[in-house]
Amino acid sequence: MTRIPLIEPYLGGREAEYLAQCVATNYVSSVGPFVSLFEREFAAFVHRKYAVACASGTAALHAALLVAGVGKGDVVPVSTLTFIASVNAIGYTKAEPLLVDSEPRSWNMDTELLRDRIISNVEAGEPPPRAIEIVHVLGRPANLGPILDLRRRFGTIIVEDAAESLGGMSRGPNGVMSPIGSLGDLSCYSFNGNKVITAGAGGMIATDRGEFAAMARHLTMQARLPGLAYVHDRVGFNYRMSNLNAAVGLAQLEQLGSFLQRKAEIARAYDSLLSDVPGVERPSISEWGQSSEWMYSVLCPSPEHRERAIADLHDANIEARPIWLPIHTQRPYLGAARIGGECATDLAARGMSLPSSVTLTPEQQDRVAGVLRLSLSASLGSCG
Ligand SMILES: *Cc1c(COP(=O)(O)O)cnc(C)c1O
Repeated sequence: MTRIPLIEPYLGGREAEYLAQCVATNYVSSVGPFVSLFEREFAAFVHRKYAVACASGTAALHAALLVAGVGKGDVVPVSTLTFIASVNAIGYTKAEPLLVDSEPRSWNMDTELLRDRIISNVEAGEPPPRAIEIVHVLGRPANLGPILDLRRRFGTIIVEDAAESLGGMSRGPNGVMSPIGSLGDLSCYSFNGNKVITAGAGGMIATDRGEFAAMARHLTMQARLPGLAYVHDRVGFNYRMSNLNAAVGLAQLEQLGSFLQRKAEIARAYDSLLSDVPGVERPSISEWGQSSEWMYSVLCPSPEHRERAIADLHDANIEARPIWLPIHTQRPYLGAARIGGECATDLAARGMSLPSSVTLTPEQQDRVAGVLRLSLSASLGSCG
């Protein structure tokens, strides 16, 4: 049986045509028309005034945190259940992360817990955090209300890690839905090969504030001042996206609407195929917006069921994956400050992602669901 990958890109648009234009015109570095075209189209899609293309999502996060003024001595709250790049970016600035537990509905940061903690800390005389990094994992919008509340009270800057959630929607304080990443101050996206759209590699910072966009651009180009002389006013980074990557990114962005439609169809099909599989839980999050359905993920009844299901899927040539280990259990962050209980730990032990490429066929989805049904029924029998 053919292998079913977890996620593979689909390059069926104008990617090759745009790349050929780069070669024909000699524009292959970060100077070139596709970079600014991609930025402009991207900003329009996420309803932001400015977008700054970066070499990766991690670079975008690092630069965005620096733009927010984060540095040594700062403590930046972030979810403990995320891809490690979210937290590494905080470390690069020499700030410390505060690892916050998840809530069970979206698997994102428990922002009510964080708000209550910060308010009581401030009442006890501590300064509020300069910035909060809120991650929207797996395509699902986090509960933004409580941190928008913190921004109103304390001027806290909201940096959104929307690397996995381009195309999802967040519900704003007025109840209106807007693109994920359009409610914070600086929002970061990734165009790695497995993300909603790819540029081969790349990232983006989106913002409505002109001075933030200018600072982001400056930092990502070695902090060099305008003019021919090599004059630099601080330690900058070589974080700009190349025209080659932007060419692919733009061609992918043109297909984003159809990708999102396919992702939604795939999620609905899994929902119905798995509705009779014993013990499979899928989070419901409609109150905070709408998922981009980047990667369809479920909870198994126990860690043992999950291990068995992943092994059975692998035996059937289907790639499935456990979701990440919580960051507080990863070696570089064993000593990091933490708040909350064991929700993230439980989600991490039982969560599993299923094949979610836009190219996934109905027959392949039937195969995935069939193996999972057999595996969980059998292991339910044996585990009691
Ligand atoms: C992929 C990802 C990143 C990093 O993006 P890269 O482009 O791979 O550097 C950051 N945060 C999250 C949540 C991600 O999934």
